Amino acid sequence: MSAESYDLVVVGGGTGGAFAAATAATEGLSVVILERKSEQDAGHIACGDAIKGKSTFPDVIDLEYLKDESFTNQQVTRAIFENPADGEDIEIEFSEPGAVLDRKRYGEVLLEEADRVGADIHYDTVVQDVTQADDGTVTGVTGKRKGSAVAYDAEVVIDAAGALSILQEKIDFGGTHFDTNVRYSQFCSAYREVIEVDEPVEWSDAIVFKPTKELGYLWYFPRTETEINAGLGFQMDQPEMQMIPVLKDDIENRTELINPRVRDKLGAALPTRRPYDSAVAAGYIAVGDAAGHVNPTTGGGIPGAAKSAHWATLRAIDAIESGDVSQEALWEYNREVMTDFGKHFAAIDCYNIWGTANEVQELTEMVSSVPGQHLADALAGTGTASMPLSLRLRTLVDTFGHWGKLFELAQVRSTAAKLSDHYARYPADPAGFPAWQAVRDEIMDDLYEIAGADPKY
Ligand SMILES: Cc1cc2nc3c(=O)[nH]c(=O)nc-3n(C[C@H](O)[C@H](O)[C@H](O)COP(=O)(O)OP(=O)(O)OC[C@H]3O[C@@H](n4cnc5c(N)ncnc54)[C@H](O)[C@@H]3O)c2cc1C
Repeated sequence: MSAESYDLVVVGGGTGGAFAAATAATEGLSVVILERKSEQDAGHIACGDAIKGKSTFPDVIDLEYLKDESFTNQQVTRAIFENPADGEDIEIEFSEPGAVLDRKRYGEVLLEEADRVGADIHYDTVVQDVTQADDGTVTGVTGKRKGSAVAYDAEVVIDAAGALSILQEKIDFGGTHFDTNVRYSQFCSAYREVIEVDEPVEWSDAIVFKPTKELGYLWYFPRTETEINAGLGFQMDQPEMQMIPVLKDDIENRTELINPRVRDKLGAALPTRRPYDSAVAAGYIAVGDAAGHVNPTTGGGIPGAAKSAHWATLRAIDAIESGDVSQEALWEYNREVMTDFGKHFAAIDCYNIWGTANEVQELTEMVSSVPGQHLADALAGTGTASMPLSLRLRTLVDTFGHWGKLFELAQVRSTAAKLSDHYARYPADPAGFPAWQAVRDEIMDDLYEIAGADPKY
């Protein structure tokens, strides 16, 4: 069997894969997307469908077309956090409206656009293994298409195969800094249904969140006034949650959801952890879910996949042009990720670690004891509401019994800020990496001690 040859082989035709291929094709490289699904099914991916807006995406495809075809609700101006402990909602206004997508159509448009700008797309192609040169450089992939063996050679392979990518099981990462400290417990299991109801919901301009008993959360994201993406997830280091009955029960108990019918259902795992410490090896770059580029609290991973895929491809192009696709040559990609969203996600992960070390009841009681709007302002980072003295005194009384936890939370917050600053100093080359990692691990040890949590990594 002779291998097909491309400058760039992209494994996976999701958000990351489509943006990687579109970037490469726009820059004149030969590129192929290998997608295990059929052309008909491609784009059908488990998702809550909520994004910030089209500014989320690199400008390498027709973003107006993407918006017109797949953004079914562009009027999302607020988030509502329901608090089952006291029934009081907390609302956060957005500075710019977000959107909810028709995920299948969105995925189809991304692939249409990658094709239009010049990428090849091979559907029904399951990648099963990689090829590596004697010095460890990844040189291609092998797999199956409709029962027949296929092989591809590439200067660089982009791994956009999503959470728990098979490529990472197959590659020998010996002698590289690629992050192999990846465990199921750092992932979240999530499930969603698209439901249709008879009457418009009042909150069609909002995304709605509600904590579950199992320290996960339920969401309701309105695609339209009568079509809602409803789902939930839980961190896999917690006891297993029966997601389908919990969701069904919540839907049935909402009086505003009249005659709900399930139109589609899907579940998947997603990384709710810090980004991979390094996502590059010679001839290979991981992007999106395959590199942990997901907000570990909200589970939002579409922006991280789109941006990281774009940056990774630009870096791969430079490396290919210079004739050097080594770990060193691709390293700058790591720094771009870490000094952009990577540092925020690493910091947010501190709250996840703290949260999982606590009982959900105590957390919701604590939240209930703080005046809602002040908490909302604190979360939104607006800080507009200065608390009058009388309210401050009342809050002190109301929060009595939670002072220890509130103090702990303040310490977590300051550790998260320290961590973020450290990520902003991510090393410019692999030589500086071990020292950077050692300091980062010290900060994490402090966090585990403050939170009374088991090490996550
Ligand atoms: C239930 C749920 C709800 C979510 N809600 C949101 C949300 O509301 N907003 C948000 O921003 N993010 C959300 N996310 C996260 C978001 O969906 C992901 O972060 C994002 O899709 C990652 O994109 P990706 O391209 O890295 O991977 P994926 O979208 O997973 O794409 C990977 C592609 O690779 C293909 N593939 C995998 N293995 C192989 C193989 N061996 N050979 C060939 N092809 C392969 C797959 O078929 C798939 O098409 C949610 C995730 C889940 C599970």
